Amino acid sequence: MSHGHLFVISAASGAGKTSLVRAMLAQDPILKLSVSHTTRAPRPGEEDGIHYHFVSEPAFLQILDQGGFLESAHVHSARYGTAQSEVESALAAGRDVILEIDWQGAQQIRTLFPNVTSIFILPPSIEALSHRLNSRGQDSEAVITQRLAAAREEMRHVHEFDYVTINDNFDVALQDLMAIVRAQRLQLNRQVACHASLIQSLT
Ligand code: 5GP
Repeated sequence: MSHGHLFVISAASGAGKTSLVRAMLAQDPILKLSVSHTTRAPRPGEEDGIHYHFVSEPAFLQILDQGGFLESAHVHSARYGTAQSEVESALAAGRDVILEIDWQGAQQIRTLFPNVTSIFILPPSIEALSHRLNSRGQDSEAVITQRLAAAREEMRHVHEFDYVTINDNFDVALQDLMAIVRAQRLQLNRQVACHASLIQSLT
């Protein structure tokens, strides 16, 4: 069995990243999303172990001290981290693993896994992002202004990523993301692992 590949997907809040990743997982059973640990409280509808592993600050720090996170970061005043064991066992089982993490985590992962494929999802424009954040209708003006500033900060890091997808039309963005996954699976080193006898017989 071929060893799986690691994908990092980052985006500014409001760019539609979570819905796109969910749709990728629904289309492709080889993909697996790494469930992060976080110290933030669950939002309505979020379940422990499915959306995040919700942990206390001391529990998070204990895992961190024991070297249990591949990467971790402070985002919006909470801690987030990717568990090493979860990712490495999925990769060893041949799953392609998606890390849905911020730019700080992406930087740490690039150092540990130079082969990682990183993808940034952008909104079609700043105006469209602002409109999307406003149309959620749940947040005050001050919160929206803060989110937009955080989104701009996140998007400053777009240049560090291998691929950029614009989420203007959801289906097109989803096809773009699946095309990146598919192209990665067609790389020679991966095809050699999957079709060893054919490819090695040609040399
Ligand atoms: P939210 O709290 O809205 O689910 O996520 C806030 C931000 O934290 C998003 O940009 C999300 O990608 C990022 N994030 C989620 N999990 C992780 C993680 O394990 N590591 C890092 N570095 N960022 C994460």
